[in-house]
Amino acid sequence: MTDCLFCKIVSGDVPAKIVRESGRTIAFRDINPQAPTHVLVIPKKHHPTVADLAAADAGLLAELLQEAGRVAADEGVAESGYRVVFNTGAQAGQTVFHVHAHVLGGRGLNWPPG
Ligand code: C5P
Repeated sequence: MTDCLFCKIVSGDVPAKIVRESGRTIAFRDINPQAPTHVLVIPKKHHPTVADLAAADAGLLAELLQEAGRVAADEGVAESGYRVVFNTGAQAGQTVFHVHAHVLGGRGLNWPPG
């Protein structure tokens, strides 16, 4: 999608600090980190929400979660614990409608989230 910010990160038109890349996904540091580790994992193909991705390509959603786990391992937070979050819809705080998994770790995380 031409007007999608994360599609522009995939194409290289918008810069990002990429930490991992696979054939169908990329992971980059969030520009406004909420924890010492805050990485976004996205599919290269545009799907607006995790529900859309689950319906369209469950295998790609599984790949996204595998990559999230690899990010956590790379960042050294897999053992201490980390959170994978998909904000889904405006009321849940989704602001970029290209599905992304937030991988958060490196500090204690409160429950329930705000
Ligand atoms: O879940 P939500 O849609 O709110 O998350 C979007 C995330 O994308 C935010 O955490 C924001 O900081 C991040 N972002 C980014 N790089 C951009 C624009 C937004 O990492 N260029």
